Amino acid sequence: MESQATILVVDDSPENLQVISAVLKEHYKVKVAINGERALALATAAEPPDLILLDVMMPGMDGYEVCSRLKAHPATARIPVLFVSSRDEEEDEARGLSMGAIDYIVKPIRPSIVQARVRNHIELKRSRDLLERLTTQDHLTGISNRRRFDDFLALEWRRAAREQAPISLVSIDIDHFKAYNDHYGHPQGDQCLIQVARALASSVTRPTDLVARCGGEEFAGVLPCTDSAGASLLAEQMRTGVLAHGLAHAHSATHSHVTISLGVATLVPQADESPQALVDLADAALYEAKSAGRNRFVARQR
Ligand code: GH3
Ligand code: MG
Ligand code: MG
Repeated sequence: MESQATILVVDDSPENLQVISAVLKEHYKVKVAINGERALALATAAEPPDLILLDVMMPGMDGYEVCSRLKAHPATARIPVLFVSSRDEEEDEARGLSMGAIDYIVKPIRPSIVQARVRNHIELKRSRDLLERLTTQDHLTGISNRRRFDDFLALEWRRAAREQAPISLVSIDIDHFKAYNDHYGHPQGDQCLIQVARALASSVTRPTDLVARCGGEEFAGVLPCTDSAGASLLAEQMRTGVLAHGLAHAHSATHSHVTISLGVATLVPQADESPQALVDLADAALYEAKSAGRNRFVARQR
């Protein structure tokens, strides 16, 4: 059974909030906001709404202003906004839609129309969310996949180049994983990958960092605005974090438990350089970590 969608209703009139809530509360979890400030606070709260019904005319911050602030913020930009207004002039509606609202409902509202439009938009939102998950998430471990890694690295690389700030990449590979698979079997190998992904993800606490599974038993962490010392600290946390999971590995030549090797690369992008420079540097460092005995990190910077 699908969980109930949450709708945020914004209107400066308590009567309107009451009327619209009554229409929606049978099928949805309804939150209400009596002004724009409150709406923005609820939209960025821990459980963001799936859809926002937004009154246009409000004292103080009006609906247009609320909408443009929602659209300007990455955390709220994708929440669909439906304007609800008593102004049914063509230009009002056009202005609302041009600001990124997906629909425009004219007051006084007709309950069956509001219900039908909300249902359609919630369905669309669900499909979009699913598509987003399928294209960016690794299906086995649930962390970011290779595609998301490539996009994120390209984006952060451009930012680092613009700001001439350091960016770090940690390249991670499980030690003797072929022996693990051969000994324990592929299904348990998969369980091991899930555990390692969990350990790596929980080592990362900054919301600006990204940990991804790049393929097979290879993972990577992208750390924007992080120097070599900071990235090394995180790499060591990842190494001990995986070891602390205590996954027995009777056939490892390195340790009695599953370990990882890490290559840490840090640089400030030069003009016309591609992110491949960072990937190559991290891979070279990882290769050194493997040669030096595994279960360790090696850091390189330029
Ligand atoms: P090293 O310490 O040098 O990294 O040795 P290794 O055995 O880990 O390296 P190698 O690259 O030779 O082996 C990787 C193995 O990972 C091969 C395959 O058995 C396993 N593997 C790759 N993808 C998956 C997967 O999706 N699931 C499982 N269970 N195993 C995988
Ligand atoms: Mg490998
Ligand atoms: Mg390996």
